Amino acid sequence: MSFIVAIDGPAGSGKGTITKLIGEKFNLTNIDTGAMYRCVALTCLENDITDKQLDKIEQILEKIDIKLKRINDNQIVLLNGKDVTSKIRTTEVDNAVAKFAALKIVRDKMTPLQREMGKQDNIIMEGRDIGTVVFPNADVKIFLDCSVEERAKRRYKQNIEKGINCSYEEVLKSIKERHLLETKRDIAPFVKAEDAIYIDSTNMTIPEVVDKISKIIKEKMN
Ligand code: C5P
Repeated sequence: MSFIVAIDGPAGSGKGTITKLIGEKFNLTNIDTGAMYRCVALTCLENDITDKQLDKIEQILEKIDIKLKRINDNQIVLLNGKDVTSKIRTTEVDNAVAKFAALKIVRDKMTPLQREMGKQDNIIMEGRDIGTVVFPNADVKIFLDCSVEERAKRRYKQNIEKGINCSYEEVLKSIKERHLLETKRDIAPFVKAEDAIYIDSTNMTIPEVVDKISKIIKEKMN
């Protein structure tokens, strides 16, 4: 049986950074499920497919091949053999992904893939429904929250650093819209699992969050 850490949290909560650091510390394979939904959205956008064209999405899903690899400390996302690590983080994908992720056919494909990945190693898996749907029996479940203003601030800063032209207001609006779609959807809505540990990272530094989660993991491992 593998050891499973589930980290669920909204966009900009620091999930990605924290998951990476915890994964390295405890030698857990890091699985970013958001990247998988982003791959679906990117493929649909590139083929001019909307979230209403279910037949076409089904065809895409039949053939889709997503691999998450770790090369020299970096998480690389391969979509049908091509490196799309940067391409899945554009504003276009940000704005489209939640619509595709809300579809039953998409989740029915991704959830079993994620469970399969979890069988192979000790893992830390980040997403929105890991503690509720994908691994309801995970050894450690964390719900990493953060105020929407702080999340938008962090995402805006990241975008500027990456050279993406945007305003804080645009980022705030996009984050709010995405959050609404994720929390209100019928299938696997983004909610806290009853037994998940709630951490609000709004006023915490990254080392503080890592420290807090590390203590929880250590307790469970012993
Ligand atoms: O975590 P990240 O922001 O990269 O996720 C991208 C999108 O994928 C989210 O906005 C959400 O709509 C979707 N997602 C999901 N379930 C997960 C992970 C991500 O619906 N487990």
